[in-house]
Amino acid sequence: MPGMRGTVLSCRYDIAVVGSGFAGSLLAMIAQRLGLCVILLERGTHPRVVIGESSTPLSNLLLEELATRYNLSNLRPLSKWGSWRVTHPELPCGLKRGFSFFHHLPGQSGSIMRESQLLVAASPHNAIADTHWYRADFDQFLVREAQNLGVDYMDKIHLREFAENGGEVRLSGTRNGSGVTITARFVVDATGPRGFLHRALNLGENALPDFPATQALYSHFRGVPRFDKIGAAIVESEPPYPIDDAAMHHVFNGGWVWVLRFSNGIISAGVAATDEVANRLKFADGAPAWERLLQQLPVLREQFSTAEAVQPFQHISQLAFRSASVTGPNWALLPSAAGFVDPLLSTGFPLTLLGIARLAGIIEHNWGSESFTMRLSDYAARTDAELLVTSRLIGALYANMANFPVFATLSLLYFAAASYAETARRLGKPYLASSFLLHDHPQFGPACAHLLGRALTIQSSRESEALIEDVFRAIEPIDVAGLGDRTRHNWYPVTADDLLCAAHKVDASYGQILQMLDRCGFRPATLQISAQS
Ligand SMILES: Cc1cc2nc3c(=O)[nH]c(=O)nc-3n(C[C@H](O)[C@H](O)[C@H](O)COP(=O)(O)OP(=O)(O)OC[C@H]3O[C@@H](n4cnc5c(N)ncnc54)[C@H](O)[C@@H]3O)c2cc1C
Repeated sequence: MPGMRGTVLSCRYDIAVVGSGFAGSLLAMIAQRLGLCVILLERGTHPRVVIGESSTPLSNLLLEELATRYNLSNLRPLSKWGSWRVTHPELPCGLKRGFSFFHHLPGQSGSIMRESQLLVAASPHNAIADTHWYRADFDQFLVREAQNLGVDYMDKIHLREFAENGGEVRLSGTRNGSGVTITARFVVDATGPRGFLHRALNLGENALPDFPATQALYSHFRGVPRFDKIGAAIVESEPPYPIDDAAMHHVFNGGWVWVLRFSNGIISAGVAATDEVANRLKFADGAPAWERLLQQLPVLREQFSTAEAVQPFQHISQLAFRSASVTGPNWALLPSAAGFVDPLLSTGFPLTLLGIARLAGIIEHNWGSESFTMRLSDYAARTDAELLVTSRLIGALYANMANFPVFATLSLLYFAAASYAETARRLGKPYLASSFLLHDHPQFGPACAHLLGRALTIQSSRESEALIEDVFRAIEPIDVAGLGDRTRHNWYPVTADDLLCAAHKVDASYGQILQMLDRCGFRPATLQISAQS
């Protein structure tokens, strides 16, 4: 980049992207591909350890769509475990075949029974499975890709000021003790919650209604055996996928533990919990608090008995966040800077990628036109609405962590909406599922909001049972994954038959579903129902 080593640097760009996590790099690459002059600014250096690792079918589909639309061919293989491992074996990742949940009672040792499990497969086989992104290497790869495309990149920059001047923005700060000024027509903030613009513009924070105050504590480990090897879960028949090749969720009253396995032998694990739990266990203490937590969860204590933390423990004292503003005349926060709820259900990536796709569309179609500002307001409203619906869902799940049947059934609202949205997009019908969790769907949206409200105040087993019945009723019209089949007893595989039976729900014929499955690399050996029927 010209002048990068000078004492005072002054450059002019169309777009300055602040923060080079995966989201900042991706947006910078897209803007560059759209012919704009782009700089990516990073406070630290790569590689660096960062949290937020587990992808989902919708995240991977969005990544694939963006890579295709904006001709980012090197990124496309990263949207599936199989093509990732073949094309980029040097980049560690984890195999994620599904979402595994296990409910723990206080002090409970011994096996976790089937009724305290929820296994939701996200893919039928490994080749097209989702992944856990080992962010240190993944993010570094994306920054290099951005640079290869022509994005200017500056690390170790400490930005202090954001000033608007005649339709332009001036960002100033220091790098290696020298002054730096960067002028851009537009700034995208990809620095995460309570990040750069939050502080520089004093944007303020709004509450997330009905969401408890929560904290997190986490690290990376080595030497953690698989859960299925310690025999902690009752698995009386073949589960829909190997239970550890998943995002593992260990749920207890007031919180949950995640365990993610990477191909380089690293295991990411941590806990998110209400203030009540976090303060009782003194999360701020780091490693000793993790030990105290394990004392209360004997099954996990056994799994982690040989574990060694390879990173210092990180404590986040306020996990959830909602910015009071999302855009201004010449700036926008990516969804990941505009808010965050909780790692539960891995909603961070899809929300961020949906926002990137929308912002990319605005840059592509409205850059330099009068409609730009109006479209930005629409982006802001949708970003905030999607954050709120996520917080309503996860707030209801927190409220029922001691009531696993309700917790598991409420989760199906998410899985039903996510699999419907994925199917609609894969069929080329994104208009059927234009919002996260289908919150603007005319029937499902209001029904879901109502059920999540009820879930906050359950007092009796009768209310629990009634809510469970109503959730199954609500998901039926959008269920393309057999989630309403109660004979599956909380284990849900991915089957072609479920999709075929639900073809009418996505306005598709059997033939269209079969073609879609073929395009996705899912060629079922047998079908229960005839494709002709
Ligand atoms: C504990 C936890 C677990 C999570 N787990 C998941 C999960 O499993 N799945 C999921 O989908 N989501 C998860 N998330 C959410 C996920 O982390 C985010 O959605 C994702 O990291 C957003 O990526 P990003 O690139 O926008 O931001 P980040 O990954 O946060 O990257 C921000 C970058 O900006 C840089 N930066 C910060 N401040 C400045 C500054 N002032 N100037 C310049 N650069 C700056 C940072 O150094 C960093 O490189 C989790 C979040 C938390 C807190």
